[in-house]
Amino acid sequence: MRLVLLGPPGVGKGTQASSIVKKYGVPHISTGDIFRANIKNGTKLGLEAKSYMDKGLLVPDELVVSIVKDRLAQDDCKDGFLLDGFPRTIEQADSLDQSLSESGIKLDKVINLSADKDILLERVVGRRICRTCGATYHIKFNPPKVDGICDLDQGELYQREDDTEETVSTRIEVYGKETRPLIDYYTNKDLLLDIDGTQPIEQIFEIIVKSL
Ligand SMILES: [Zn+2]
Repeated sequence: MRLVLLGPPGVGKGTQASSIVKKYGVPHISTGDIFRANIKNGTKLGLEAKSYMDKGLLVPDELVVSIVKDRLAQDDCKDGFLLDGFPRTIEQADSLDQSLSESGIKLDKVINLSADKDILLERVVGRRICRTCGATYHIKFNPPKVDGICDLDQGELYQREDDTEETVSTRIEVYGKETRPLIDYYTNKDLLLDIDGTQPIEQIFEIIVKSL
């Protein structure tokens, strides 16, 4: 199963990713994770990427693509993968397509989870995390028994610095602008599965499974 997962911050992508990985036994490939691993291991690609990031510059498409290709060539991706956070641009999508077809394989599905901005904002801005164990809560949808205190270990709950209304709002807008062309791209290739991300978690997963 070769899948791409798209979705804005707060849409519940992480939850669906873990369910998919568990059911189909494919590796979850997040570009953020591969970058961190390459940098940590001091690979040539990692060092090159770091030189851009240290200057506050975006890592060029070409380099992102090399890093992902390198990861997809590893043994655990032989029977499939779930790509998360990649591709982000048409150029990246084209390179992925080309690289896969050189190996005689293709994507099975591109899953797009979507939701209105107001709903995403409410979800992300209300998120609280335990300092001790990392458990996540939501002030409205999944509140702790005692305000500001973790149910599991009485740890203090905090809000991530970049989970404020202003930054989340910007992240959602940037994401939307970036991704819209990709939605068309994959629709034209008849690969897109568009899902309303406001449905219950189990229901979303059921739709995904049925489509595969
Ligand atoms: Zn805790």
